[in-house]
Amino acid sequence: MEFLLANHPLDCPICDQGGECDLQDQAMLFGNDRGRFYESKRSVSNKECGPFIKTIMTRCIHCTRCVRFSTELGGLPELGTTGRGNQTEIGNYVSKVIKSEVSGNLIDLCPVGALTSKPYAFQARSWELKKTETIDTLDSMGSNIIAYSSGNKILRILPVLHEGVNEDWINDRTRFNYDGFFIQRLTKGYYRKGDGFEKIDWESLFIKFLIENSLILSENNLFVVGQGLSSKGALALKDFCSRYNDTILDEIGLGGLIPDFRSSFCFNTGYTGLAKTDLCVLAGINLQAEMPLLLMRLRKEQRTRNLNVICFGQQKLDGVVTYNVGNSFSEIVKFAEGKHPICSLHHSSEKPMLIIGNGFLSLPFTSTILSKLFRLFQKGIWNGFNVLLSGSSSYHMYEFGLTKFFKKVNTSFNKISFLNTDGVNLKKKSDAYSFWSSHGSRSSSNFNLILPLLSNYEKDGLFLNNEGRAQFSKFVIKGPEFARTDESVLKSLESLSFKNSKATSIDQRSLSHLIVNVGKYQTFSCTEQVSKIKTLNLILSSEKHSVLADDHISKSSRLLAEANKTMEANRNLHFK
Ligand code: SF4
Ligand code: SF4
Repeated sequence: MEFLLANHPLDCPICDQGGECDLQDQAMLFGNDRGRFYESKRSVSNKECGPFIKTIMTRCIHCTRCVRFSTELGGLPELGTTGRGNQTEIGNYVSKVIKSEVSGNLIDLCPVGALTSKPYAFQARSWELKKTETIDTLDSMGSNIIAYSSGNKILRILPVLHEGVNEDWINDRTRFNYDGFFIQRLTKGYYRKGDGFEKIDWESLFIKFLIENSLILSENNLFVVGQGLSSKGALALKDFCSRYNDTILDEIGLGGLIPDFRSSFCFNTGYTGLAKTDLCVLAGINLQAEMPLLLMRLRKEQRTRNLNVICFGQQKLDGVVTYNVGNSFSEIVKFAEGKHPICSLHHSSEKPMLIIGNGFLSLPFTSTILSKLFRLFQKGIWNGFNVLLSGSSSYHMYEFGLTKFFKKVNTSFNKISFLNTDGVNLKKKSDAYSFWSSHGSRSSSNFNLILPLLSNYEKDGLFLNNEGRAQFSKFVIKGPEFARTDESVLKSLESLSFKNSKATSIDQRSLSHLIVNVGKYQTFSCTEQVSKIKTLNLILSSEKHSVLADDHISKSSRLLAEANKTMEANRNLHFK
């Protein structure tokens, strides 16, 4: 203890690690109550580690946990030691931003206050804050987290250990999106009047919505759903839309999959399946941007037992050695038909695993080879076929049979409502009708009605993650007074329409209609489509390039926006 403390500064009163510092705890238990060190203490210059990590390197005790993490799990050997003995320093050799999408975990694993959170610096003491265990609802992983709040403000978010889901880690978006909760919040309802907007109460909002929607009672009304719709909200949406024959569209989409069978849209092996498989095939997915925690598991498996990874559509994954098979869709068609040279790896594998993502599902004709791929990855009782749905609402929407996929929104829809998203490109601005969200966005001025909702930290909810695992998200802070939950808005609309509507008949057939439509993709002639694929030269790659600023809340986060810009430009950034 005396050697550890010899050069350690007497910073505890002003150190952000205070109260949760391993060194402080050890010194309290085993240390002496007075020092015998009278030399001058050494000091080490701080390093620039980017927008998230604040460094005070004089406090470093050279445990090298951060070096091991960034090399073995973070995928980028950005940190290392220089010097020997008393001159030893931890640093990133060349001053540059840490580009890993899970870099925030360095803050947790540093046992002392050498690496701390930049946005949280001097905000509060950990023992003063209220702690709420909940889950992240911004992707389909369902990471277990603990939110630290003071009054009505979330001040930091940390991971909670769950071996089956996020282990002990979270990605940087989950950790640092909380400043977005307070920016661009929708606190009132609005309706369009001329070129501007006027405030409106809930009753008038409901009446306007119902009157204008019920003028066009057809299948032409559309709901586009983004992130964060809970399972109860999804059920309420199903009830409401089946009354109106409306269509519900998941922002992410399901491509040619058949939503009738859970195994066709589920992550069948579970995330822990990566520890059992002997071959992992990725198709049309950028794990780095879509699910960095899964990529960490992949790095761990490859490092410990040299797991083979084949990549269709993604050329490079940091920290993972892959067999890149190009990004042409015809390559995976050859693979599915058993005609690709890489098939030998699959033949020798006992538990092969396939993860297909957005880049694959958004292409036309995927249904032609999906059934082949599905069969290819069944070996005995092992089902290695996995779909990675990147949206947190996607799984339960498919589970309840709610979605239909369109690559682009068809202009023939009369009233288009957007729930927690503005992500789909509309051909005409006038197509946009109502905007349901906790946060405003650049496109919200295109809408006629704006309905303010509570975010998921402001209410309780039940979410199914990509594996079908049910988890609760909990109430953490109080939302704006006027805002309501999506479920209560939909139920109020439903009960009002039931009382007032002469025009609407309850038509449960709309759901089977959706499923029939999706099913139609399966009936196309395979041979005809395979030859079409070969001539079309479709490109199989994910459209997602960054895990940061991906959803309606993260897009409002100033910190993530700046970090995103920095990471993209690969420049150093000095935050105030
Ligand atoms: Fe005190 Fe720990 Fe901070 Fe060192 S790292 S100054 S022991 S709280
Ligand atoms: Fe130093 Fe912290 Fe890294 Fe350990 S984890 S080497 S204390 S910076």
